[in-house]
Amino acid sequence: MTVRWQNWSGYHSSTPRSRVEPADIDELCDAVRTASTPLRFVGTGHSFTPLVKSDGTIVSLDKFSGIRNHDADALTVTAGAGTKLGELARAMHKIGQAFPNMGDIDKQAFGGALATATHGSGATLGAYHTQLEAINVVDGRGRVREFSRKKNVDDLLAVIPGLGAFGAVTEVTFRNVASYRLRRRRWTLSIEEMLDQFNIMMTSHRSAEFYYAPFSRIALFVASDLSDDVAVTRPPDEDDETMATLARVQRLTGWAPWLRKAVLRNALSGIAREDYVADWLTVYPSERNVRFNEMEYHVPIEKGASVLAEVIALMETRFSNVYFPIEVRVVASDEAWLSPFYRRQTASIAIHHQAGSDPLPYFNAMEPIFRKYGGRPHWGKMHNLTARDLQASYPRFMEAMSVRRDIDPENRFVSPYIATLFGIDL
Ligand SMILES: Cc1cc2nc3c(=O)[nH]c(=O)nc-3n(C[C@H](O)[C@H](O)[C@H](O)COP(=O)(O)OP(=O)(O)OC[C@H]3O[C@@H](n4cnc5c(N)ncnc54)[C@H](O)[C@@H]3O)c2cc1C
Repeated sequence: MTVRWQNWSGYHSSTPRSRVEPADIDELCDAVRTASTPLRFVGTGHSFTPLVKSDGTIVSLDKFSGIRNHDADALTVTAGAGTKLGELARAMHKIGQAFPNMGDIDKQAFGGALATATHGSGATLGAYHTQLEAINVVDGRGRVREFSRKKNVDDLLAVIPGLGAFGAVTEVTFRNVASYRLRRRRWTLSIEEMLDQFNIMMTSHRSAEFYYAPFSRIALFVASDLSDDVAVTRPPDEDDETMATLARVQRLTGWAPWLRKAVLRNALSGIAREDYVADWLTVYPSERNVRFNEMEYHVPIEKGASVLAEVIALMETRFSNVYFPIEVRVVASDEAWLSPFYRRQTASIAIHHQAGSDPLPYFNAMEPIFRKYGGRPHWGKMHNLTARDLQASYPRFMEAMSVRRDIDPENRFVSPYIATLFGIDL
């Protein structure tokens, strides 16, 4: 029986010839050798790009789940790549270990997060893949390979993030930190002040990020720093109500920017202040129940304020219908060959558009601004780049492609979308 697949936002779908969920490594190797191509692996389908889409076979790594072992002294964990981030975080917390950082949600599979360079915010904190010590991968011939920092670090740096085109990641060993608590504070300031002090504000906290609600001229700034204070229960998420308010204000005042700004100032001041201490794993993730599509570009940190100023100016001139906030984060530089943070401390700027309506006029208008400043797209978020553009912005792109060919010589993991990104003739 064929079953339709669609991503979280509903923007991409496909009806593969088969969907399989191997129970163990033998079943997975067998599927890789024999199932119809292209074989695309799926975590939880939270990517906004058609990475998982396939007319051949979609392979879920759900059964490769849970912590296999851990080292309390080295603070390392070995886990199945299909484990969901939230489940992993809870199990790690019980044994005194923690991710140094997390993104906005904890629903993704670890393998999915690693494949797209999923990240949180923090000028000295890397994306998840920077924690990797070793991975096990099933290659295109259905054989298990191990890549590790100790034995073959170059290969490890080539294959992750690998967009599911460098084999099926089955098991990952990664380095953590000891469990910790965070004090999270939230306040507002004018967007002019925020842009003026961008670098200092974004680098003087362990983790700093901010949101800009279109037409408000207000930045909602969030800072998280280590704390030894007693943990409290995290206050309830207000994201859904905030989104409903922003949509309502747009509907009622979208025709009058000055009125929209006044109403938004009033609404945002009501939700602004927050100050609490809680365990790391409850501070980072939120519930995101309102569906959207997203484009996120990673630009050099020193360009962050200029890029954002241009994005806001264009949005507020041409797109009065947009009400989803812009999210701005910072990420540490790293060494992975296909990492958007490769050798570059980064400001990440994300724009969103409600699911169910066409995001392309907005996203396509903004993309040239990101590109003008040397932006590299998030692999899991919408963009229009192809192999030629990517080769120009990733110095080790061609070397990564040669490692990929060795892993998957018959292109069994190559869908039309992957072929476009990597410049592969099918
Ligand atoms: C509401 C929401 C919030 C988000 N927040 C953030 C955020 O804060 N920060 C951020 O950086 N991103 C964020 N994202 C993007 C998201 O983290 C990435 O798109 C991530 O890849 C999704 O993980 P997934 O498990 O759903 O992977 P999928 O979308 O299912 O797959 C993504 C890629 O991973 C590959 N893959 C999955 N498992 C394996 C495996 N075991 N072996 C090999 N390849 C595999 C797939 O083939 C595909 O190429 C968010 C997305 C949504 C919808």
